[in-house]
Amino acid sequence: MTTPDVDAPAVPSTPDSAAQAAHRAAVAGARQATRQDAPPGRDAYAADGARAAETAASPEPSLADRPRPGGSSGGRSGLFSAEEVRAEFPALHRTVNGQPLAWLDNGATTHKPHRVIEALTGYYSYGNSNIHRGAHTMAREATEAYEASRAAVAGLLGASSAQDVVFVRGTTEAVNLVAQTWGRDNLGPGDDILVPVLEHHSNLVPWQLLARRTRARVVPVPLLPDGRLDQDAYADLLSLRTRLVVVSHVSNVLGTVQPVREMTALAHRYGARVLVDGAQAVAHMPVDVAELDADFYAFSGHKVFAPTGIGALYAKPELLAELAPWQGGGNMIEHVGFDGTEFAPAPHRLEAGTGHIAGAVGLLAALEWLTSLDRDGIAAHEARLTSYAQQALGTVPGLTLLGSAPDRVAVLTFTLAGHDPAHVADWLDRNGIAVRSGHHCAQPSLAHFGVTSATRASLALYNTAEEVDRLVAALHALTSGEDATPPPPSQPGGPGG
Ligand code: PLP
Repeated sequence: MTTPDVDAPAVPSTPDSAAQAAHRAAVAGARQATRQDAPPGRDAYAADGARAAETAASPEPSLADRPRPGGSSGGRSGLFSAEEVRAEFPALHRTVNGQPLAWLDNGATTHKPHRVIEALTGYYSYGNSNIHRGAHTMAREATEAYEASRAAVAGLLGASSAQDVVFVRGTTEAVNLVAQTWGRDNLGPGDDILVPVLEHHSNLVPWQLLARRTRARVVPVPLLPDGRLDQDAYADLLSLRTRLVVVSHVSNVLGTVQPVREMTALAHRYGARVLVDGAQAVAHMPVDVAELDADFYAFSGHKVFAPTGIGALYAKPELLAELAPWQGGGNMIEHVGFDGTEFAPAPHRLEAGTGHIAGAVGLLAALEWLTSLDRDGIAAHEARLTSYAQQALGTVPGLTLLGSAPDRVAVLTFTLAGHDPAHVADWLDRNGIAVRSGHHCAQPSLAHFGVTSATRASLALYNTAEEVDRLVAALHALTSGEDATPPPPSQPGGPGG
């Protein structure tokens, strides 16, 4: 493997040398990943994990006499250790309002491990260049890293080729891209778009806009009282008019996992296409677009330990080949003349202008990091922590959890009788605990439960039972009248749901 030329002082143990090393590693890794067309394996971390398991941390304080999932840390399973992983996230070690931070707002965004931060610093310090059109070393290095990131996304999603992946700003942009390309070309008056009631606004509003333009119909797929998608109603609503079904893999309000494979198979019987919103799924479970038979799959980097402003849309190659350009500019053409323009093949045809190169570098680092972990161990840890939290929250007087569907991942949304959700979030913040309150960009699903606002705690692989204990203890304190301050005015619950 060739070492890239990086013209910078090689002074050991300075922040610069760390950035330089990160950049060297990123370029070397990019070359390797490009060759393999898939993210590297998990051997490196497995060794670390084994060491971590050997040196398991000592028990930590918790709410008395409550059963703890998975022993003292609440999370260790095989090679995966939440405590070990926490050490890699600088933000998790800060204090907020004089308390150690408990970040339970992962549904909105996740924190970034050192490796991602260093990849960004390394890129901007030593690797910064535009891509795809520069005839010099740094342009080639940046292009290799960008394309390696695309290959890593393909590896993460089980896509057969990196060329099936379009870089976008995030899930929202991916959905809008499909609406404005495939949607405009394939929908017309009387066509149906089936949208479950639990969708995030990002997977509803673009379809309403499209329906208005094409005179297609947005048809809601109802929920059962427990929050599950009503599969009988779904089957009844499907018809030859159905051109598109959209569905979130994991709900951002309930954490429920939809039976995407079954829904896709049914939709395909009617010739409908299926778009899966994976925003809340990719950080929590392995995804295989081939197994799901998804036509489109979208996710946001920032919810999977990568930077904001970068995400990806997977599309089946035959669909991608059909998608017309939705934005014009540089990078997406083969030839331009006043007599007409010849467009580049997908995915580049759909990526006009300079992409978020640093974001792609950070995404590559995040995906290499995530896929090097014991993902079964992560899933087991999160499942135990979620059911522990569910049980523990049940002890808080007046607390009602939204939804009781069984298949739930990492999300707990609740109301607390007599307490405005904004006030609950503010009280928790004063205790160093970050949660979200509001409508979670999913007003129809809150309406299903008869509320307009709720509080949401959302977990990630680095959360522990101690943090859940702190959440529950703070809620107990609130309900027993410890908070004497007047509640803040209710907030509408902006983005980030
Ligand atoms: N879909 C779901 C299920 C989400 O939870 C979110 C964000 O919270 C989005 C889509 C939108 O993601 P982004 O704002 O990163 O585009």
